[in-house]
Amino acid sequence: MLRTIVKSLRTGVLTEAHPFETQPSFGFPVIDFSRCVACDECARSCPTGAIQTAASGPGRKTVTLSYAACIQCRECVSGCPEQAVGVSHDVEVAAYTRQQLARTASFDVDAATGRGTFVHVDAHTGPGLHESADRLRERIRGRLGRSLHVRQVDAGSCNGRELEIAATTNPLYDLERFGVHLVASPRHADVLLVTGPVTRNMEIALRRTYDAAPEPRIVVAVGACGCSGGLFGEATYAAVGASIVFCQSTCTFPAVRRVRRRFSTACW
Ligand code: SF4
Ligand code: SF4
Repeated sequence: MLRTIVKSLRTGVLTEAHPFETQPSFGFPVIDFSRCVACDECARSCPTGAIQTAASGPGRKTVTLSYAACIQCRECVSGCPEQAVGVSHDVEVAAYTRQQLARTASFDVDAATGRGTFVHVDAHTGPGLHESADRLRERIRGRLGRSLHVRQVDAGSCNGRELEIAATTNPLYDLERFGVHLVASPRHADVLLVTGPVTRNMEIALRRTYDAAPEPRIVVAVGACGCSGGLFGEATYAAVGASIVFCQSTCTFPAVRRVRRRFSTACW
């Protein structure tokens, strides 16, 4: 006992005072569109389809990077012959709508060389990260008060997100000090935290868990698989895809509409 106390005193307080200010070693890729020539190499090397190119008219082309599907594998960084793709330290890409997670650039394409010349970027406007957080906080406090009880549902995840969720409760980050508690039963939950691309085997279990959670309930998808199906895609033989059911009336996620239909419920 005495040894434990001495060790605790020697160790001191490990909890991060500002857990949201720590800079990660690497984050999402960023395309410098002014250097990009719309050659498609990054789209070909991207395993999740997070980068898409498309013809937008005669001699016109678009390149789109969506963080909803990105798994930060950095294949696009090494695959770009123009060194136009860099890596940021940014992992805070939460957005109010899925469209805000995408950047689309337009290019004029030279018919002789096939090289594109950057024209402009289409930014999908909407509330920024802090405004989104404020709006969400307001909605949650209006309905649920200051304390959130969260039930995590693994709908076919590789356990990567579970490790991250578990890490939020360790002594370093100590999520509970913010009034957020992980609970064992959906009957005690205000929030369902869904990971994975919703495999066919987990579809019914997810539906039952959802039905068991009392109203009003919030469903939050975690990670690329939850937001877009990730590596597993959408509506494949093994996975339903995109578990996101982020309950807000302004939400325009196609998957949200689909899951709402599946679960036959109205969004609060
Ligand atoms: S980091 Fe990987 S998943 Fe993300 S855009 Fe690049 S290639 Fe695609
Ligand atoms: S970012 Fe690089 S690889 Fe991707 S289209 Fe542009 S030039 Fe090609």
